[in-house]
Amino acid sequence: MNTETVDVESILTDDTKRKKVVDNPFLHRLQKRHFILFQILPIIGSLIALPLLPYIPFGPFEIFLFVLFWLMTGFGVSSGYHRLFTHRSYKTHEAVQVMLVIWGAMAGQGGVISWSALHRRHHELSDKPGDPHSPNLFGNNWRDRIRGLVHSHVTWMYKHPYPSVVHYVPDLIKNKTLIKVDQHYYLWASLGLVLPAILGGLYHWSLAGALAGFIWGGVFRILWGGHTIWSINSFLHCFGMKRFQTEEHSHNFGPIALLSFGESWHNNHHAFPASASFGLEWYRLDPGYWFIQLLEVFHLAWDVKVPTPDKIEAREINA
Ligand SMILES: [Zn+2]
Ligand SMILES: [Zn+2]
Repeated sequence: MNTETVDVESILTDDTKRKKVVDNPFLHRLQKRHFILFQILPIIGSLIALPLLPYIPFGPFEIFLFVLFWLMTGFGVSSGYHRLFTHRSYKTHEAVQVMLVIWGAMAGQGGVISWSALHRRHHELSDKPGDPHSPNLFGNNWRDRIRGLVHSHVTWMYKHPYPSVVHYVPDLIKNKTLIKVDQHYYLWASLGLVLPAILGGLYHWSLAGALAGFIWGGVFRILWGGHTIWSINSFLHCFGMKRFQTEEHSHNFGPIALLSFGESWHNNHHAFPASASFGLEWYRLDPGYWFIQLLEVFHLAWDVKVPTPDKIEAREINA
């Protein structure tokens, strides 16, 4: 862990220190640019790619590229951005931190500092005014419910108050290495498109192969990976099973546990946000936790927090 600190506090005005969110046109421009690049363009890119598919290679290597980049970015977001940086549910070496930040950035869901600040605010104000992406604040008729779902799934990202990083992630902005890696977010996100294109081009030794790599390992994978994670914010704050009585409307939904890297145990997660395990029991599939356990086997992760069976049982609804 890097112990060098950036004296961020000294360069901020008292007013900025007090504010929990920042709302200004410059930040909104950045949000809109990111929304167009990583929400709108993957949809347009996929639509343009569809008629090209018969003319470019598709076989085991394209499936391999899709799965490889989906796994890297999924572990980067779930085991890195979410469980390590947002919730500090385990500790790991600096090299592993950097690797997870780069993998997470390749998912195109924003830099780790912003992602963690937004997600800590989500836990602080879940389904209350100020929650960046609650589907439950628009009213109860069916039109309002749909508006809420669309907002929480995707459109909230277009323009939203930005959580003050001094307030929400003071621990992260003290880590100089993390700040440096995070500053190059767009470089890492572009790598998530360029690398599969290079690999596809080299494998087939053709431009068509590079295009196939770009589409399957990059564009489709960003679209698929993003929407599985966003569905936790949207659908699982409306539908599913509630194992623990929590103040907000989080639910569990086992059928998408593997696809969401274990993030779909969302009610478990709201009940025990500091836990590295979201499934809590071995039979609730939780790939994001399996990755942390793998790090542990190689002595690359330690102080892994998991609640005891007594604590879990005490909070169960039907206990
Ligand atoms: Zn939630
Ligand atoms: Zn969380």
